[in-house]
Amino acid sequence: MAVQAVESSTASEGSTGSAGSSVSLGPAVALSCRECGERFPLGPIFACAECFGPLEVAYDLPTGDPEGLRKRIEAGPNNIWRYAPLLPVPADVADKPNINPGFTKLVKADNLARELGVTGELYIKDDSGNPTHSFKDRVVAQAVEAARAFGFTTLSCSSTGNLAGAVGAAAARAGLRSCTFIPHDLEQGKVVMAAIYGGDLVAIEGTYDDVNRFCSELIGDPAGEGWGFVNVNLRPYYAEGSKTLAYEICEQLGWRLPDQLVIPIASGSQLTKIDKGLKELIALGLVEDKPYKIFGAQAEGCSPVSTAFKAGHDVVRPQKPNTIAKSLAIGNPADGPYVLDIARRTGGAVEDVNDEQVVDAIKLLARTEGIFAETAGGVTLGVAKKLLENGVLDPALTTVVLNTGDGLKTLDAVAPTTGPTVVIRPSLDAFREAGLG
Ligand SMILES: *Cc1c(COP(=O)(O)O)cnc(C)c1O
Repeated sequence: MAVQAVESSTASEGSTGSAGSSVSLGPAVALSCRECGERFPLGPIFACAECFGPLEVAYDLPTGDPEGLRKRIEAGPNNIWRYAPLLPVPADVADKPNINPGFTKLVKADNLARELGVTGELYIKDDSGNPTHSFKDRVVAQAVEAARAFGFTTLSCSSTGNLAGAVGAAAARAGLRSCTFIPHDLEQGKVVMAAIYGGDLVAIEGTYDDVNRFCSELIGDPAGEGWGFVNVNLRPYYAEGSKTLAYEICEQLGWRLPDQLVIPIASGSQLTKIDKGLKELIALGLVEDKPYKIFGAQAEGCSPVSTAFKAGHDVVRPQKPNTIAKSLAIGNPADGPYVLDIARRTGGAVEDVNDEQVVDAIKLLARTEGIFAETAGGVTLGVAKKLLENGVLDPALTTVVLNTGDGLKTLDAVAPTTGPTVVIRPSLDAFREAGLG
């Protein structure tokens, strides 16, 4: 498991930070290996020096006074920094220039529930409302704080599209340089969003997995010296941003756990950290402990994790992606084995849908709830629908489906089948003839 996870996202354990280990990042106390548990001082490292397993942030969380903590959170700003006591960021983070993502809407989707035959509560957690219109603002906001703490002045990443935009915006606001890397064949909306904030944008002739491998090489090269790659050498900090989705969902439900969550998978980081966030809320006494099930969603054209899940494998075999859901098109997902673990441990599942089902789900959500999702949201809702039809999701329970991005960035996916009902001359006769009055 460790080898799989490391090979896919990390080629070397290079550390190029200019500062030492005496940084202060709020309740974060160390990095710990997700495989062997070995601990390391906080720094721009991402692989265990003992076993090469991936590292994650370990905390000294504020236990003992759940009521006080809940009040403190509720009195905080209407963005992710209300959860600063649970994140690897300095206590005064909210006073610094950053793009302040989060506290996006949790929409009670009653029309959609009726259409899908859901009798329990159905919610869409709509992260298209973030500053650069995807969930990636949450993770980048953490990486910016880590970059500041470690003295990096250039912010970088390998991206399937949304991340490059989030890094560009966050760097602009924080006064850092950015240089981001994307595959050459992304949607125009993603490319423009990645370029508009003024940083350098490099399109690479290859897949995302080629881009990621390239970035791992760049970290060990003088050309990348002093660069903070949000999803490589700052990955342990970056990843923690996804916990805020778990915190927000529970707070918005009135400090209670949902029964079922349906979450998209690209690298799998988001899904694993939502699980981590839910477990923390239970441990802190902020929600009542009860079982919850986590379901992962992939596109059929890039389904390494769902393929492994259905085959009963622990190892995720890489695939070459071919899907309209480009933001999820990671053929060799770093957190794949951990996702399998969580889906199995919680009694969930991992499923995939084809491109046609993705488009149908985008239209279904728009038509029933007035939410225009990007292709990743179509994947997630499409999978939720399929799991309901197969009797895997329980229609009587409280279910949260994530929409992680904005449909305006993936117009290409729906444009061929969406447009005016009719085109007419500007006359009442013509309108009556069209039969719409
Ligand atoms: C990046 C991304 C995801 C999933 O990210 P992980 O790599 O699995 O953490 C989901 N939805 C959208 C829109 C994304 O851009």
